[in-house]
Amino acid sequence: MGDSLTGRKQNVSDRRSSGNRRAAVHSSVYADHASTSPLAPEAREAMLPLLQQNLGNPSSLHFEGMAVRKIVEQARSEIASLLHATPEEIFFTSGGTESDNWAIKGLAESRGSIGRHGIVSAIEHDAVLNTCAHLADNGLEVTKLKVNGIGHVLPDTLRQAIRPDTAFVSVMLANNEIGTIQDIPVLAAIAHEHKIPFHTDAVQAVGHIPIDVHTLGCDLLSASAHKFNGPKGVGFLYIRHGVRIRPLLDGGSQERGVRAGTENVTGIVGMVAALKARYQQLEADMARLKKLEILLKEALAELGIPLIYHGDADHHLPGLVSVSLPTLDVKDLLRYLSAEGIAVSAGAACHALKNRSSHVLSALGVPPDIALQTIRISFGVGNTEKDAVRIAQAIRAFIQHTREVLL
Ligand code: PLP
Repeated sequence: MGDSLTGRKQNVSDRRSSGNRRAAVHSSVYADHASTSPLAPEAREAMLPLLQQNLGNPSSLHFEGMAVRKIVEQARSEIASLLHATPEEIFFTSGGTESDNWAIKGLAESRGSIGRHGIVSAIEHDAVLNTCAHLADNGLEVTKLKVNGIGHVLPDTLRQAIRPDTAFVSVMLANNEIGTIQDIPVLAAIAHEHKIPFHTDAVQAVGHIPIDVHTLGCDLLSASAHKFNGPKGVGFLYIRHGVRIRPLLDGGSQERGVRAGTENVTGIVGMVAALKARYQQLEADMARLKKLEILLKEALAELGIPLIYHGDADHHLPGLVSVSLPTLDVKDLLRYLSAEGIAVSAGAACHALKNRSSHVLSALGVPPDIALQTIRISFGVGNTEKDAVRIAQAIRAFIQHTREVLL
């Protein structure tokens, strides 16, 4: 894939070149795809014509409106077929945060007197956890399910948490910090034995692993375009036929009356183009990313420093590596890597600025001091074997640089 997709640019760096100040020219490495991923050329090309023309409002009944409505419905059908859903089960939103808010608030508020209790995993994204915190302020009791040391919710943990007044269960498909992929079919089946609807936050999984909503058995599924090389600020919520949830937004009757607001038509079209592009190479890409991950781990092993990997080594998002480097100052390391044109993330991007250790790593039992020394490398479209090697080389250079400073 070309340079424009990876966001590579020439980066002249002479700041760190082991004392001799020789200018080194590197291309930058973007390995933070779990935070956000660069726009796919396919998405850009699909969106450009729409940006250049006068788009009608899809709700308008005149010819301009009808033309745009057709585009939106075509996009809905295409998304549905990629996930093995029906078009009527796909609702466009502004992204993962809205989809999660809608799913959880909608479920909690739709079940009246039985909706006094909700169950989520302890390692959900803040879009789920803070939504639950908001509902808890208004009387919902929330159980946060413990996970095992590699990030799995065990079936018995869920069974024991279910109550007669449980309104919903929400467990993410793939975790954004450690990549662990949950056994959603088993967990959803347990919820269904008790007639409880099951939501999964699949924001990190859609476009990265094959998804069939029937195999998963979920009733609701959240997705966000910017995690699979689509545009930012657009996503969707899958709601299984027959599942009723309250709207999140009050307003017009768009999206069959349950999601008010004029549709982000350009974003929707870009999202579909990006997802189709991902699906065309999904299997090959998964293998390629796995290879990069192995290469990176081999190169890191040669550094001869202690390394602690997190998550499930067998069932995780291909290309996502969460590793603690307890002997290094990770904040300094991230600054150093950034100066070298290498973008990787602290444990999770949202914690990076707050200097608080990640709730995900803490749920795995990782001590706070180790958790704070964690980096997340997430490869994606456009990354090459050279990138994996360069990250390890830059960490080696950082170690040498730190030793020189200390001497
Ligand atoms: N859920 C997960 C697992 C995520 O990783 C993210 C974003 O990082 C979100 C939800 C929020 O998605 P968005 O950025 O589209 O609002």
